[in-house]
Amino acid sequence: MVEIDTILIKVASQCNINCSYCYVYNMGDDSWANMPNFISQETVEAITKELEALKTTQKRPFAIVLHGGEPLLLGVRRLELLLHSLRKTIPDNYCISIQTNGMLISDKILDLCSRYKTSISISLDGPVSIHDNHRLGHKGEGTYHRVIEGIEKLKAHPDASFLFAGLLAVIDPTSNPHTIYRFFKDIGTPNVDFLYRDGNHAKLPFGKETFQSTEYGTWLAGLLDIYLADQSPIKIRILDDIIRLALGGLGLKEGVGVTDFGIAVIDTDGSVTKNDTLKSSYKGADRFLEHWNIHTHRLVDIFASDEFAHAHALQRPSSLICQACPELRICGGGMPLHRWKSDSEYDNPSVYCNDQLLIINKVKAILLEAKQCA
Ligand code: SF4
Repeated sequence: MVEIDTILIKVASQCNINCSYCYVYNMGDDSWANMPNFISQETVEAITKELEALKTTQKRPFAIVLHGGEPLLLGVRRLELLLHSLRKTIPDNYCISIQTNGMLISDKILDLCSRYKTSISISLDGPVSIHDNHRLGHKGEGTYHRVIEGIEKLKAHPDASFLFAGLLAVIDPTSNPHTIYRFFKDIGTPNVDFLYRDGNHAKLPFGKETFQSTEYGTWLAGLLDIYLADQSPIKIRILDDIIRLALGGLGLKEGVGVTDFGIAVIDTDGSVTKNDTLKSSYKGADRFLEHWNIHTHRLVDIFASDEFAHAHALQRPSSLICQACPELRICGGGMPLHRWKSDSEYDNPSVYCNDQLLIINKVKAILLEAKQCA
């Protein structure tokens, strides 16, 4: 059976904003339109029953991430029922978190999250001039100020040190990494998880001229300089992961390093899908051939199936170029979605290959210099 690290539960298929780069709504997949707007309590109960069985079978804890659309559209009452059901099954040493755009954060929601030991990660791309380029409301209005209001409420909560899990930021390679780093540091976030923009060999990511160009690698290299010069830095996962791997450590999550990160997604109707970021490759790319649903199938059977194992194995790159690459152990071939090309499917290096090589080589050069000076 594939070991699971994260179960991502889609609790709302709608979103209160409309980010231009969103893989759920704006990259060609429209499966959200056929989903219930919100997960039902009946589906929640079916999920908790399956999680109970998974807990017994797997032994190793797994994390639960509540996702959307925008999960806080659920509202206080439905969120309370959901968290109550989950925490009846999932003990406190299993992380439960919410990935939100932060605009609907209220004191009541924060109190609930505190009571049910549920942390909150907020999507924020940078200062207003960067964030509002792509993270817009349905009428094209900026969302920055409401996100900041949400973060301020979160930081003011008595349980903020637990509740504030960090920020998720999509990199804008046209921005100044120094400005972005200072901005996030001033916000007081414990960490930032910087993500590459979705895209692939057929649809080059925003800001990337060609497959060979290194706009994102150059941006990360600038960020690394600022990060290493800071005496009390905030945590930056992508850089920490590359540094740890370059020192001989292991990758922890998909996207950097050769890992066997196990993820399953449960949609608002209870259907079980692959990593939903695959939606950016082509319509339906995240769907299994089997129409698994939490109401009719056992999660432990799904995770023990050949089709699930095949999807799980996709995160290890199959491309012969990656297999022969001296940096495979550190890079890991990137995220599968970034390898997509219509003729060779996922059998390619990441579209961020040259960006990865640039930042990996920079990290290695810095470590070598530090070793020689020691
Ligand atoms: S994507 Fe590029 S850098 Fe990464 S393993 Fe493949 S060939 Fe190497």
